[in-house]
Amino acid sequence: MSILLKANHISKKYNTNINHFELKPSSISLEKGKIYILKGKSGSGKSTLLNIIGGMDRPTSGSVFFNNHSFYDLSDNEQSKIRNEKFGFIFQSFNLIPEMTVEDNIILPKYFNKNLKIDTNKISTIAAELGIKSLLHSKPSQLSGGEQQRVAIARALITSPEIIFADEPTGNLDSFNSKVIAELLVNVVLSRNTTLVLVTHEENLIEHQHVKLCMLNGELVVEEEHV
Ligand code: ADP
Ligand code: MG
Repeated sequence: MSILLKANHISKKYNTNINHFELKPSSISLEKGKIYILKGKSGSGKSTLLNIIGGMDRPTSGSVFFNNHSFYDLSDNEQSKIRNEKFGFIFQSFNLIPEMTVEDNIILPKYFNKNLKIDTNKISTIAAELGIKSLLHSKPSQLSGGEQQRVAIARALITSPEIIFADEPTGNLDSFNSKVIAELLVNVVLSRNTTLVLVTHEENLIEHQHVKLCMLNGELVVEEEHV
C-alpha cells in the first residue's frame, strides 16, 4: 500500500455575514491508483474539502501531506509546481478557453509550465482515447457539453498527473452523458494507475471496487472500503 496524499485533521471555518460553515476535522489517506467517490448534499462541504486536498485552499487547521511533504508548508513556487505537474483538475463548468481550439485547450498546462514537453503523439493518443480526435481544430462553442468535458479530461491527463480531482464533472450533463463521461473518466484513470477523487452522484459507479466517501454533518466519513 502506497499513500500518495494524506489529510490530517483538516478543518475549515467560513464565517461571513450571510453564512457559517465548518468542515469538522477530517482525515483521509489516498492511495496510489485508487478511486475515491465523494458524495454528500449540496452545501455539505465537498468542494471545500477538494480545494484543501487539491492544494488550492489552506485549511484553518490540520495538514495535507503529498508524497510525505507538508504541502502548505512548502513555498508558493513549490506548491504551484506540484499543482501544475502532479495534480489534475476537472470542474463542473469545463473551464475551457472559448477563443482557443480544442487542441490548444488540451495543451493549456504548457503555458503555465515552460518545462512541460507534450509531443503530438501524446495529444492524439489521449484525444483518440476520449473520442475527440476529430474535434481538435474546433472551438469549444462548437461542441456539446459531453464533448467539452472530454476535452477537460484530456487537459487534466496531458501532464500525466499522479492524482486527479474532479468536482461534479458531470453536473452540467444530461443523465445519459453523465453516466458515459463518469465511466470514461474512471476508465482512463484506472488504465494509468492514477489516483482519482471524484465528486459525483452517479450511482452506476458503485458497482466498481472504489472507496466511497461522504460528507456528513460537516465531517468526512469513509462509508465503504473495498480491498
Ligand atoms: P458542496 O461542494 O458540498 O456543495 P461547498 O464546499 O461548496 O459545498 O460549501 C460548503 C459551505 O461553505 C456552503 O455553505 C458555502 O456557502 C460555504 N462556502 C464555500 N466557500 C466559501 C467561501 N469562500 N466563503 C464563505 N463561505 C463559503
Ligand atoms: Mg461543490
